[in-house]
Amino acid sequence: MDDQRLLRYSRHILLNEFGLEGQVRLDQSSVLVIGAGGLGSAALMYLASAGVGHICVADGDRVDLTNLQRQVVHREDTVGLNKAVSARNQLRALNSTISIDAIQERLAGKALEDAVEAADVVLDCSDNFLTRHGINRACVRHSKPLVSGAAVRFDGQITSFDLRRQDSPCYHCLFPDQADAEEERCAVMGVFAPLVGIIGAMQAAEAIRLLCDLGEPLTGRLMMFDGLSLAWQTVRFRRDTQCLVCAFNAAGAVRREEYATAG
Ligand SMILES: [Zn+2]
Repeated sequence: MDDQRLLRYSRHILLNEFGLEGQVRLDQSSVLVIGAGGLGSAALMYLASAGVGHICVADGDRVDLTNLQRQVVHREDTVGLNKAVSARNQLRALNSTISIDAIQERLAGKALEDAVEAADVVLDCSDNFLTRHGINRACVRHSKPLVSGAAVRFDGQITSFDLRRQDSPCYHCLFPDQADAEEERCAVMGVFAPLVGIIGAMQAAEAIRLLCDLGEPLTGRLMMFDGLSLAWQTVRFRRDTQCLVCAFNAAGAVRREEYATAG
């Protein structure tokens, strides 16, 4: 790491728990951020400023005037531009020493599998159940840590699934996908602007913590934030041994056996 970078990241390097080792680890890491909306905006800015060496951002939508109220990575002059490209431009201006890829599509199928496989940590900053479950399945298949955030109205939540670990629950263990699941989209419900910043910044914090083995990961803890009282609540959850996603993949076969033996 050259002098300019040592200086740039000096406030991280000063942290005993982080140090030069943590900064080098971040520099060598690759993070996939799916969704460059409100959550993605905050997460991306901190991941880029903190010095994650490789960031891949995926979004198929275009920047709209109504996004500017909370999606702080975009600018008035990028209205109409693809969100992944708009975000990449902004992140490049923030940190020219890292590499940033923009995928201009809603990730699915093979493109999703490839992007997840190439990442060390995946951030789900999407806004719908179909995408969330697709991301989860890919992360389970490739044993990648998944940091999941959501925000609508005044309600935010965040958790992570460290799918590198055999005992980690997955998103489906927590929220089994049901055809009649109620979808709450910002477009219809409204969303408090700073809420997405709070949850998105937490997602960046959790991703960095997972990458650098800092503190205790959120695995098995769902943190819920109420934007009206500014209060956090934590709910604990476990892996569902009958989960249709994580108990029945290749690694899951071993898990089921373990549980069968454990009785
Ligand atoms: Zn599961």
